[in-house]
Amino acid sequence: MNIFEKDKNYIANTYGRFPVEIVSGKGEIVKDQNGKEYIDLGSGIAVNTFGMADDEWVEAVTNQLKAFQHTSNLYYTNPCVSLAELICQKTGFKKVFFGNSGAEANECAIKVARKYGAEKKGSEYFNIITLKNSFHGRTITTLAATGQDVFHKDFLPLTDGFLYAEANNLESIEKLVSENKVCAIMMETIQGEGGVNVLTKEFVEGAYKLCQKEDILLIIDEVQTGNGRTGKLYSYMHYDIVPDIFTTAKGLGAGLPIGAAVLNEKVENTLKASDHGSTFGGNPVCCAGAVNVLSRIDEKLLKEVEEKSNYIISELEKCEGVISVSGRGLMLGIETKKDAGEVIAKAMELGVLPLKAKNKVRLLPPLNISTENLQKAVEILKKAMI
Ligand SMILES: *Cc1c(COP(=O)(O)O)cnc(C)c1O
Repeated sequence: MNIFEKDKNYIANTYGRFPVEIVSGKGEIVKDQNGKEYIDLGSGIAVNTFGMADDEWVEAVTNQLKAFQHTSNLYYTNPCVSLAELICQKTGFKKVFFGNSGAEANECAIKVARKYGAEKKGSEYFNIITLKNSFHGRTITTLAATGQDVFHKDFLPLTDGFLYAEANNLESIEKLVSENKVCAIMMETIQGEGGVNVLTKEFVEGAYKLCQKEDILLIIDEVQTGNGRTGKLYSYMHYDIVPDIFTTAKGLGAGLPIGAAVLNEKVENTLKASDHGSTFGGNPVCCAGAVNVLSRIDEKLLKEVEEKSNYIISELEKCEGVISVSGRGLMLGIETKKDAGEVIAKAMELGVLPLKAKNKVRLLPPLNISTENLQKAVEILKKAMI
């Protein structure tokens, strides 16, 4: 059997894959089984912040791997504490809980919110408002948080206590808050899986003010938008807000599994010993890699993200196959006249790997993609779009 047949035989059918086997890569270039090279505009879905097999990151990871790979959370490790310190220093937040994925980071945020609501107002204050068309993960609880019926339908009943407001409609949130006992509002500032929809300033800042007024926690899901992706270290920094909790995962590990719920002063001590845990959470190899990644996301890199973003937007807005471009930084969605699937197939044939989100072509290139390869990739995309 070849690899495609073996995969069909042995792997659960949860993924529709392209007939491409990735065998190696460096930076934004990936190579398939036939030696064909592609410019990667997906980064493993916003994960490979510095592309494939980045030298500095590989060194940080392998140095830790040679020292030791794992211990339990019964003992201290330097990479885990150093990463938490770095996140807090860069954001002003107070404490970090480490898990292994975006879903796990959100689960932690949800547990913190439930406990905070119960302690501050009473156990009936368990409801959490999320947004229609959001995406927060695949566990039963983070699916419940995800405001999209398509993900729910075969898995009912889901965890109770999630209410869905309309994105960019503050009245819809105000109504839910006034009619229900609510402990938190959770949102992505750019709905990634939902189609790269940017939330407006009025809406996010209005929700923040409402949270402050009603003593409701604001949770920002930065799993896709975080770690420099949108041109700021975390995307909430585009708004005049400071959330009580933000969650991060994908780009933090730059290719190794890690997730974190980052807690501000209102909730820094809500969880007590034994309230929550994770066997692999805070793994020293993942954390050593993440320390390297996070310490390299500086003003210079963020400025480059902005410049590359402006370049992509201005080039694609000129392209006659493009209807509109949404998003921020290097998280962009392109509505095309042609079907997005067709555009992607053509781009792949021509040597570029874009992603899809709903009916849009989605771009999440490595943040350090070279100008030369970015220009090449944009020219190929334009060809694929007309
Ligand atoms: C990907 C994603 C998640 C889920 O992350 P996993 O690591 O797959 O569990 C949650 N929220 C957002 C916004 C995401 O993009």
